[in-house]
Amino acid sequence: MRLVVVGAAGRMGKALVRAVHEQDGAELCAAIERPEAPEVGLDAGRLAGLGDLNVPITDDPLSAFARADGVLDFTAPQASLWFAELAAQARIVHVIGTTGWTANQEGPLHVAARHARIIKSGNMSLGVNLLAYLARQTARALGDDFDIEIVEMHHRHKVDAPSGTALLLGEAAAEGREIDLAQRSVRSRDGITGERNSGDIGFATLRGGSVIGEHLVIFAGNGERIELTHRAEDRQLFARGAVRAALWGYKMKPGYYSMADVLGLKD
Ligand code: NAP
Repeated sequence: MRLVVVGAAGRMGKALVRAVHEQDGAELCAAIERPEAPEVGLDAGRLAGLGDLNVPITDDPLSAFARADGVLDFTAPQASLWFAELAAQARIVHVIGTTGWTANQEGPLHVAARHARIIKSGNMSLGVNLLAYLARQTARALGDDFDIEIVEMHHRHKVDAPSGTALLLGEAAAEGREIDLAQRSVRSRDGITGERNSGDIGFATLRGGSVIGEHLVIFAGNGERIELTHRAEDRQLFARGAVRAALWGYKMKPGYYSMADVLGLKD
């Protein structure tokens, strides 16, 4: 499968180049950055610490997508929307790991999924998707008298909050409870907030250092507490998950898929 990495000079972009290189049956055919990026013209393999792969970073996604079977995209929502349009035109697989989406940005992705095979997830690791599955089951089993709080910590460079993974876990818990997360989530607390509303799902965000990603889902009841946790120790884990998703998507019909579909964790 011929794959393009967009945002190839980013933290995840470099991890994706390494993951494609180590995966049998996958080949890096192009690497893309913004026109003004200083890395344009450099070799994507060398930049990722692999040595020359003879794949220069370019600023031309259109011609790259035309000769590819799939694209791996961990960039920014505005950029991912544009790449989804191009992936639909080229009728290829588009794996989107980008986070920080607003509700109305996601509509056009569903339009693109009429022609592209879009696989989008706020977290591409097996562990977090399993955690989401467990959060859904736990929320379903416990009543409203267990308060759900989600805590996350990431490195100091992360620009969006709460993390895409925290929201994915919140969605899973909300599904288990059969409530709408948008109506019941509490994204921050400051000052005299009043008492906690029963049934809300709370989020707390920590930022600092080089933490790759830690998530904790707490079910706090009267006199007991259940805590489900995941710690990512290497961002290569997300990149490998993205390549696995691309290979899975290659065999699928156009549509909008999640990592839970790829891993068979839908219930
Ligand atoms: P990063 O280091 O800032 O990398 C993003 C890269 O995309 C940058 O090189 C950026 O270039 C580039 N880019 C942005 N717009 C572009 C465009 N229009 N054309 C080409 N390149 C463009 O960030 P990161 O840490 O790799 O994270 C990237 C995204 O992945 C974030 O949303 C993060 O939350 C998410 N993420 C998801 C998972 C998951 O499993 N789903 C795991 C980790 C991270 P500039 O620097 O010039 O803007």
